[in-house]
Amino acid sequence: MHSKLVTPGTLWIASDIHLSDAHPETRRAFISFLHKASSQADALFLCGDIFDAWIGDDLATEDPAEWLAEIVQALRHTASHIPLWIGRGNRDFLIGKALATHIGAQLLPDTVVLETDAGEVLLTHGDQYCTDDVSYQRFRRLVRCPAIQALFMLLSLDARRGIANWARKRSMASNAVKSRTIMDVNPDAIAQAFQQSGVRVMVHGHTHRPAVHAMAVDGHQCQRYVLPDWEPLAKPARGGWLVIDRNGLQMVSLADAIT
Ligand code: MN
Repeated sequence: MHSKLVTPGTLWIASDIHLSDAHPETRRAFISFLHKASSQADALFLCGDIFDAWIGDDLATEDPAEWLAEIVQALRHTASHIPLWIGRGNRDFLIGKALATHIGAQLLPDTVVLETDAGEVLLTHGDQYCTDDVSYQRFRRLVRCPAIQALFMLLSLDARRGIANWARKRSMASNAVKSRTIMDVNPDAIAQAFQQSGVRVMVHGHTHRPAVHAMAVDGHQCQRYVLPDWEPLAKPARGGWLVIDRNGLQMVSLADAIT
């Protein structure tokens, strides 16, 4: 059974912002998005890979770097206006309760059914559906193990940084030789998620392939909304969010929203 959240009103959902020290333009776009959400949305959901890397909440709660402090402050500001929900992706799976508490947000379960004004919507990061990527799924099981995470958190920040960089390089090297199909979601895994949850609409990120897909599952018409990753300097700009309200679901692109 999936956990359910009753979420009426206007919801904004974004994913894969990949915030980091290296991309000030993404941080600026995201901070202005947060301000807009505070005044226009009734709740905001960030469903994973908010950060390009995350090696522990202490990075943000104890003497954060300047760029991170600015993001934390903007998140807190938003959370003081509207409910803010944060979820974990494959890059920032170490986000925990401490960060959520620090910014006044709530942690999203890995998969959740939102009871919205437009009907039930299954929300998740999406990496668990990339079942063709066997080596990634093995890595995912390992790093999601609470005992492994607890051991990792015993290490110093420098040691954690070192391991994260090493893992990152390995992942980039292996992704370079994986096909696009292997790194996309598996259709059977998606169909199964629809069947198990009983919902007809799914929203996820992760693949960086924004689209709205239609598929029939057991004779029911289902829709899968894939959220974009954020790269405002790309031509055209990449990024955006999904709005859910009583009129339905609508994608808003960052390119249209930048004034
Ligand atoms: Mn991801």
